[in-house]
Amino acid sequence: MPCQSNDELFELVKEAKKYTNDGRVADYIPALGRANPHDLSIAIQYPDGQCLSAGDIERKISLQSISKVISLALVLMDRGPDYVFERVGMEPTGDPFNSIAKLETLTPAKPLNPMINAGALVVTSMIKGSSMEERLGRLLLLIREMTNNSALQYCEEVAKSEFDTAFLNRALCYFLKQHQMIQEDVDVLMDLYTKQCAIEMNCLELARIGMIFAMDGVDPDSRKQIIPTDIARICKTFMVTCGMYNASGEFAIKIGIPAKSGVSGGIMGAVPGKFGIGIFGPALDEKGNSIAGIKLLELLSKQYELSMF
Ligand code: GLN
Repeated sequence: MPCQSNDELFELVKEAKKYTNDGRVADYIPALGRANPHDLSIAIQYPDGQCLSAGDIERKISLQSISKVISLALVLMDRGPDYVFERVGMEPTGDPFNSIAKLETLTPAKPLNPMINAGALVVTSMIKGSSMEERLGRLLLLIREMTNNSALQYCEEVAKSEFDTAFLNRALCYFLKQHQMIQEDVDVLMDLYTKQCAIEMNCLELARIGMIFAMDGVDPDSRKQIIPTDIARICKTFMVTCGMYNASGEFAIKIGIPAKSGVSGGIMGAVPGKFGIGIFGPALDEKGNSIAGIKLLELLSKQYELSMF
């Protein structure tokens, strides 16, 4: 069933678009700096196959930090919660996503949660496989299953652009390696991490991922349990407590939907038991979240009473 463009969503997008003027596209990854800050689009995917949209939902974006939820799901399936949470914590931080400050105060230097970069790097280092290619392939396989798109790939240009400029993430890796939180070669991990972040999809596919989480890991089309229920629950909980970095508290109060953002301007939302949301709006606020995307979710949540609290 094709995705229907929807007038009510269109009105909300029109209203939220005004806020794009106050944001800036991420340019610390050079390839992301070319996005149009005034773009804003949304897709909503329901489990019965119905899909509503507004804006250009075909445009591809890289997942960036949204990938952190899926890599977490994969390593939890690979290794189980006990192993994973010995190496990465469960607590939110009030620091920016790429901060190194807290790591220095922790003994051992165990990152506070898997949604900040330090934690995500440890998570990615736990993806099983005998080579970088095999590990990336396993992550891609899971994402292809969730999106129902077997052709899904990463964008080489975005991956290379980040790999060549990821000085801060490399610093995090070396710090973590010094403290035995990661064992592998830093460049191999950075290669895998930047390719993971560069995995590309459109809003519709992003909404489908949100729907799988909303439906406790079950694909309503195939009825297959893609992610075990308890792992889907852990992922959604992290989305609530840490999904919007150090803006997660305000987001929970104003919007109340498990969600994960990325610096490409994407937001993936999972309204439990109801539907998935995919948003693209590359102008970011100072915390690295899509400024108009958050506004759009706020309008949507108010209008349809979507807060889970
Ligand atoms: N690839 C990005 C980075 O590590 C992801 C960060 C984000 O989306 N917040 O810097």
